[in-house]
Amino acid sequence: MPKASPLKLYNTFSKKEEEFKAIEEGKVRMYTCGPTVYGRPHIGNYSSFLMADLLRRWLEVSGYEVSHVKNITDVGHLVADQNEGEDKIEKQAKAEKTDPLAIAKKYEKMYLEDEAALNMLKPYKRPRATETIKEMIEIVKTLEEKGFTYETEDGIYFSVEKFADYGKLSGNTLDNLNAGVRIDVKEEKKHPADFALWKKCVGENAEHILRWDSPWGEGFPGWHIECSAMSMKFLGDELDIHTGGEDNIFPHHECEIAQSESATGKPFSRFWIHRRRIDMGSEKMSKSLGNVLSIDDVIEKGYSPLDLRYLFLSVHYRTNLKFSWKGVDDAKKARRKILGWMDEIGSLKETKESKETKEKKEPRYSGAVCLEKFITSFSDAMNSDLNTPQALAAIFDCMSWSRNQKYWSQEALEALNDFVAMVSHTFGCFDQEAAENVPVEVQKLLDERQVARDGKNFEMSDKLRDQIKELGWEVRDEGGGQEVRKL
Ligand SMILES: [Zn+2]
Repeated sequence: MPKASPLKLYNTFSKKEEEFKAIEEGKVRMYTCGPTVYGRPHIGNYSSFLMADLLRRWLEVSGYEVSHVKNITDVGHLVADQNEGEDKIEKQAKAEKTDPLAIAKKYEKMYLEDEAALNMLKPYKRPRATETIKEMIEIVKTLEEKGFTYETEDGIYFSVEKFADYGKLSGNTLDNLNAGVRIDVKEEKKHPADFALWKKCVGENAEHILRWDSPWGEGFPGWHIECSAMSMKFLGDELDIHTGGEDNIFPHHECEIAQSESATGKPFSRFWIHRRRIDMGSEKMSKSLGNVLSIDDVIEKGYSPLDLRYLFLSVHYRTNLKFSWKGVDDAKKARRKILGWMDEIGSLKETKESKETKEKKEPRYSGAVCLEKFITSFSDAMNSDLNTPQALAAIFDCMSWSRNQKYWSQEALEALNDFVAMVSHTFGCFDQEAAENVPVEVQKLLDERQVARDGKNFEMSDKLRDQIKELGWEVRDEGGGQEVRKL
């Protein structure tokens, strides 16, 4: 790693850029609020997960060992903000005439497929809320013992007035929240911002299918307590980084802070990093399904999910990106340019310095020194609150420079390959085969087909195409190469 500036990240909590320092040297404990699995994720939903993946990758490139926990919310995320209304998953189960666990399973599978297609690294742990109920009950019991809760007919509530820092993350003061009270607020609640830690299976929740025994009778957890329990179970009481989308700031993360810090007496997370929303503009809907725009629509339009990944990462995470197909197209072109360049680099060979060049002191020859400059500007950009547009500019600068190089010393080649490895790991969208998760058997057939094509054996090539299709993959011949996509 060349000397670069220290990593600075914009902390939603302090509302400024701060230098990142890990609690335990060299290690990062990071939690990301995962998906609520009740429907096909909209492509916009992936932008905050991609931001978290980018941050984790950059921390790894910077030498940290990152324990990244990302949950699956499979119960308790209610329709209304303050943990009220119907359970999103049970609601969908009714609509699809099946049970909530089947719904959670179905959409979790879809989510995981999309996550793999977008080449997100697998988290260190991926807890499901339904598997962490015991830990949730323990936290609620602690909060109850410490006097932060009260019981009503329908649940156990957290009293926001007992937590002095409530509102610090989002800037929503209790007075503001009181002023915005809706008429239908439950009369039993002491403050409209109070939120349920545990819901009892009574009243409108009497028929709730997923239910567990608890000291307060049969019930189910509130959404906010789930993330506190799942993060603390695997990462301890104090996190280095907590991420999410900007719509998670309030009430979800505000409530996570309130209940976690009240229970442990320690600061919950040092850094709160949030991705701004993607503005889907007029492209909100999928034309084929009349539903949300999904990864399948991206593939159907002839793009790789990695083009979308590139698009989402090419703008700074704290700016609102306006989604358009033109944007995906530009991302595809830019990504291809970088991929093409990386291919060229793969075939570069050392050119021995001749006497002549030595004597002329060919200025471009000092490759390794120039490369240091690109590596440093790439690192500086990433360290500057993940400034990806600037980091990409460093890649393109290096590309033009390297194409003008006439001679390559072993040292310069090594530095160039190091830079490529750094860029690839950071962005995660320049390693096509791995990213598309092409199974080994499909790849084997593709390789055979390439040999057949090179030898103009088209009969064999067509036969192999059919075999690949039987395995669920479609191969297309584009620009002299083969491109595969999952059927
Ligand atoms: Zn969460």
